[in-house]
Amino acid sequence: MRIVLTGFRGTGKTTVGRIVAKSLGIPFLDTDRTIEGRAGMKIPAIFRNRGEPAFRDLERKVIAALPADDIVVSAGGGAILDPENVAHLRRGSLVFLLEADDETIIRRIGGSDRPSLTGRPLSEEVGDLIRVRRPSYFRAADLCVTTSGKSPEEAAGEIVQVLRNGPLSPVSREAGRRFLEGLPLDESDRSTLTSLLSWNGEPPAGICGITGYPCSHSRSPALWNQLFSRYGLPYFYTSFEWPAIGDVIQAAKNLGVRGLSVTIPFKEEVIGYLDEIDEDARAIGAVNTVVQCGGTLHGYNTDWLGVRAPLEDLRGVRAAVLGAGGAAAAAVYALKSLEMDVTILARTVEKADRLASRFGCRAGPLTSFRDLDPEVVVNATPVGMHPDRSSLLSGEDLKEGMTVFDLVYTPPETPLISIARDAGCRVILGTEMFIHQAREQFMHVTGIRVPETLIRELV
Ligand code: NAP
Repeated sequence: MRIVLTGFRGTGKTTVGRIVAKSLGIPFLDTDRTIEGRAGMKIPAIFRNRGEPAFRDLERKVIAALPADDIVVSAGGGAILDPENVAHLRRGSLVFLLEADDETIIRRIGGSDRPSLTGRPLSEEVGDLIRVRRPSYFRAADLCVTTSGKSPEEAAGEIVQVLRNGPLSPVSREAGRRFLEGLPLDESDRSTLTSLLSWNGEPPAGICGITGYPCSHSRSPALWNQLFSRYGLPYFYTSFEWPAIGDVIQAAKNLGVRGLSVTIPFKEEVIGYLDEIDEDARAIGAVNTVVQCGGTLHGYNTDWLGVRAPLEDLRGVRAAVLGAGGAAAAAVYALKSLEMDVTILARTVEKADRLASRFGCRAGPLTSFRDLDPEVVVNATPVGMHPDRSSLLSGEDLKEGMTVFDLVYTPPETPLISIARDAGCRVILGTEMFIHQAREQFMHVTGIRVPETLIRELV
């Protein structure tokens, strides 16, 4: 297996990487030095003479050509902002993100001849760049190690320890194992997880999963496990079907779960268990993606991106959202981001009113649909979901040219979609939301941008 160390300048990836390689008795490669070798000049000279794009181009070529096995690689902090580099670096590798606080970094890189990337004083540049880059760094790494207050030997010792004994302490591994025993897993998942947890000296493979109650019907495990194998990632995705989200989060910490997809009924409640929530998820009030790095849990929402992506060509139009639950909140946020004039129509009008006042839009009962004459309709209720065969709208409600997006995806062709098709509407199936939200979720957990065509083929 390849070991990759990455992180901002001054986090120690080169010094620590050299020590790790020496302890493991395998070669060490610093991508920056390889780039300098290829260019025949130092990095400051490449920036000065050829510019940053030329440097990044060389960097991409060096990363794509890295040896596959038994090597420790130190990769530049700017490189992992590019998802293509991340896919190359992650293939068959274990990626460690080295972190350090701003003060430590400034002390370590003060006096370096590397050019400033922003032209601002080092103390300002470091803090700002780290904050912008942090989410990308978290995505690209399997494990995080802080090097602040540690000597390079201590930080390297920690990494070697993880490589030799796995990232989990025996106590937390045992607690995680007990939790898994109580889950309604199928035999094949149970045996894969048991072998992952019975330490056999191989570099650690990680666990990801979906949590909800119920969630065993989800298509996510099949999709994610295919993606992990396509991209050569050492992960296994399973289903954590359990009635209490607090227990799942505790187990995720014990098991070092890297990524968790969160579904009904936990998308709101999970927020209380997380360390950092991104801006969009906080505005929507729901998290459907949890990423763990260095024991810190980060929450994101990708549902809204799943609604937004298929509608991106329809800016500023009149839209009706049916329903006022979690999916409706994500849908309204997505439509508002496309500057649409949104009205929420729901069976329980008070819920529609509450949601509308949060997002600054209108609300009403389902019966007022025809008065609205919307150009876009989004069904965010479970009406039409298997085994239900009903639709909230009839052929008389719909007009040719309307866009009808049914978020329900089981079955893909819902009664509403059939009615809309017959009425001459443009239809968007719930699988579109699933595809786009899963693509964004995979990006949060791995830093890899899966081509839309591949994810469609796998779904
Ligand atoms: P939720 O929070 O339970 O909200 C459901 C909403 O639907 C509520 O406003 C509820 O109204 C309304 N509703 C339920 N039954 C109704 C009926 N018979 N007539 C009229 N309104 C009804 O659920 P959610 O998380 O928003 O999810 C809604 C649906 O979105 C799911 O069932 C799922 O099919 C779909 N979804 C799809 C994806 C995807 O990737 N495609 C992702 C997420 C969700 P009351 O408040 O009056 O009960």
